[in-house]
Amino acid sequence: MFDQQSPPTNTTGEPHRALYLRWRPKRFGDVVGQEHVTRTLRNAVKLGRPSHAYLFTGPRGTGKTSVARILYRAVNCQNAQEGDPDNTCALCRAALEGRALDLIEIDAASTGGIADIRDLREKVAYRPNEGRYRVYIVDEAHEMSNAAWDALLKTLEEPPPHALFVLATTEAHKVPPTIVSRCQRFDFRRIPFAETREQLARVAESEGMQIEPAVFERLALVARGGLRDALSLLDQLSAFAVGSIDMAVARAALSLPSIEAVRGAIDGMTRRDPSTVMAVISDAAEGGADLRLFAEELVVHLRALLLLRTGADARLSDELPVAEVAWLRERAPAWSVRALIQLVQTLWRVRATHSSSRCRLR
Ligand SMILES: [Zn+2]
Repeated sequence: MFDQQSPPTNTTGEPHRALYLRWRPKRFGDVVGQEHVTRTLRNAVKLGRPSHAYLFTGPRGTGKTSVARILYRAVNCQNAQEGDPDNTCALCRAALEGRALDLIEIDAASTGGIADIRDLREKVAYRPNEGRYRVYIVDEAHEMSNAAWDALLKTLEEPPPHALFVLATTEAHKVPPTIVSRCQRFDFRRIPFAETREQLARVAESEGMQIEPAVFERLALVARGGLRDALSLLDQLSAFAVGSIDMAVARAALSLPSIEAVRGAIDGMTRRDPSTVMAVISDAAEGGADLRLFAEELVVHLRALLLLRTGADARLSDELPVAEVAWLRERAPAWSVRALIQLVQTLWRVRATHSSSRCRLR
């Protein structure tokens, strides 16, 4: 799959642009980890039968907006190839350069969407300016006000043939059922651990960054399936360090707790040994680790123990390195399900209240 990844645009002499922007996928085949979505969309475009409304749900940074923009180019491309945009025709180029006339992006989080949706209602009947479809992308759709949903619903009930809507949200349960029922829904997954790690390695190599392979694994673990977050971490690393980057440099740059410290805390908990746990955590804090990140990683490990303990671990290797799963599997029998649930809940509350100034990932 990665063979199809577009090389980044040459930015020699240009101001630095974030890696996740430069490595934004440009064709359906470039999208990492969402084949179940992109295959269906590409087929729909190829057959000339896209839906009028899509609901893209899933965690942040998994490609929802990127796929919506590819869809805009794919349905309008003057020279589409097997359902993918060619990215070279005038229409594709305009879109890639942010000049698309028929791509309307609405950020529902900023306004509740009502002014934008009213504007949409007034203009939606007009033909597109240049392509076959006018595409409306509503980002953070769950933030829309009730009035905005009502207005949008009227449009979705009788959409003009040239209008295509993509509602993108991390919280699908907040989208009214009357809207959901008029959309084709796609659930974007957290990107599997190994795919995130490989994409990081690929980007780093292409960018000429010298990074110890174990660092990619560490970043992929921290990003937990969000490729945009993973690439942002890589960006922070490249800004922090010149020359080769090993694990010690990466930990210092990103305030990452070491995996040994996380394991040490888990071991202490497994042995019901609070003084060890406290010692490990205070050592980590003194070493510069971000305690909120530490708490998040403990939650990830404890949740994994819970899945192992209950036999629901079939897809655990999508989230954690194989060695980490094996290490946890040895410790799972010492735990009760009840104790794990209580600990996860407690730590989640700690994480929510412990704000961090150093690493605002999520
Ligand atoms: Zn094109």
